[in-house]
Amino acid sequence: MESRLILSHLQARLPAILEDLRELVERESPSLDKPAVDRLVDYLGGRLSDLGARVELIRSRDYGHHLRVRWGPPGPVQGLLLCHTDTVWPVGEVNRRPFRVSDGWAWGPGTHDMKGGIAQLLAAMGAMRDLGIGPALPLVAIFNSEEEVGSPESRELIEEEGRRSRYCLVLEPPTGDGHLKTFRKGVGGFRLRVTGKPAHAGADHAQGVSAIQELAHQVLRLHSLTDYAAGLTVNVGVVRGGTRSNVVAETAEAEVDFRVPSLTLADAILQRMKAIGPTSPGLQVSLEGGLNRPPMERTPAIVALYRQAADLAAEMGFAVGEGGTGGASDGNFVAALGTPVLDGLGAMGSGGHALDERVLVEQLPWRAALLVRILQTFN
Ligand SMILES: [Zn+2]
Repeated sequence: MESRLILSHLQARLPAILEDLRELVERESPSLDKPAVDRLVDYLGGRLSDLGARVELIRSRDYGHHLRVRWGPPGPVQGLLLCHTDTVWPVGEVNRRPFRVSDGWAWGPGTHDMKGGIAQLLAAMGAMRDLGIGPALPLVAIFNSEEEVGSPESRELIEEEGRRSRYCLVLEPPTGDGHLKTFRKGVGGFRLRVTGKPAHAGADHAQGVSAIQELAHQVLRLHSLTDYAAGLTVNVGVVRGGTRSNVVAETAEAEVDFRVPSLTLADAILQRMKAIGPTSPGLQVSLEGGLNRPPMERTPAIVALYRQAADLAAEMGFAVGEGGTGGASDGNFVAALGTPVLDGLGAMGSGGHALDERVLVEQLPWRAALLVRILQTFN
C-alpha cells in the first residue's frame, strides 16, 4: 500500500511539479551559452540544497558549471543518477514557444530532453522528505552542462562516480511508448579531409586532382558500411570543399556520424575506417575521430534492474515496458565500465530536439513515484 500512498502524494503535488518544470524551462540553457547555463545551475543548486542534499558546484571554464549532489545514508557503495541541464535550444526560443500546459501536455523547449526528468527528480526528493522515506543506498546525482555536445568535460566525473556505484539511473526520457531503456547504440564521429591538387578548370584541367571527386568516392564507400540488419549505420551529414567553380578543388571534407550496437562491432568498424586511403594517386585522405560514447549493451544485470523497476511499477498499478534507442546518453559511459544502467526514467513525451517538444502531464507523478520506489529499494 505504501506505493499507492507515494503516488497519491505526488499526484496531489502535480501543480507544484508543473511549476518547477516551468521554472526550469524558462531558465534557458543552451550547451554553449555558459552564462545562461550557469544561471540555471545556480537556481537548481539552491532547490536541491533546500531539499536537504549536499550540493557541490564543479566549476567549468568553458561550459556551464556542473553539480555533484549527495543525499541519503552514509556507506561505502552508492547509487548514481545522471541528469543534464543543457538543451539544444538557443536563448529566446522560450519567447517563441512559451511554456504552456494544454490538452494534457506541457509544452516548451527542453521539457522532454530533459527538464521534465529533472522536475520528476525534484518531486521524488520532495516526496521522500515529506513522507520520511530514506533511500536504501547513499545517492549521488550529477547534473552536467554539456551533454548535448558529447560531455567532453564531464565524462571523467561521470566515469569516476560510475565506478563507485552499484547502479546508475539516467533521467533521460523513456521511449515514445514510455518504455525504460536497457540498450543504446554507441555513437562515434569522424572528420574526413581530402587534399588534391588545384588547377585552372579551363587552362589546366588535366593538371588538377580534384579533392571533391575523391570525397564523392569516399562518401559512397563510407555509406556502403551501413548494415541495418546488424544495427550499424554510417552517415555523412556535412560536406564542404572547393573554392570556385572554375578551380579544380584542392581540399574537401566531410563530417561523419556512426552508430553501433556492440563494442565488438565498434572495433570492427573502427579498423575499417582507419584503413581508409585515397582511391587514386595524387591525393591525401585523413580521418580524425573515433567512438565518442560506447554502446550500452543489454546485459543480464541491466535487464535485472529493468525487471525490478517493472515490478515496482506494477505494484503501483501501471505497466512499464522495456526498449532502447539508436541515440546515446551519458549512461553509455557508465555501462561501458560494467555498472548496470537503467535509462529512460525521465518524463514521458515526444519531440525532443523538435518544435513540438512536450511531456505528458498525467505521467509526471507516476514516473516520480516510480523513482521514489526505486531509490527506496534498489541496493
Ligand atoms: Zn538528453
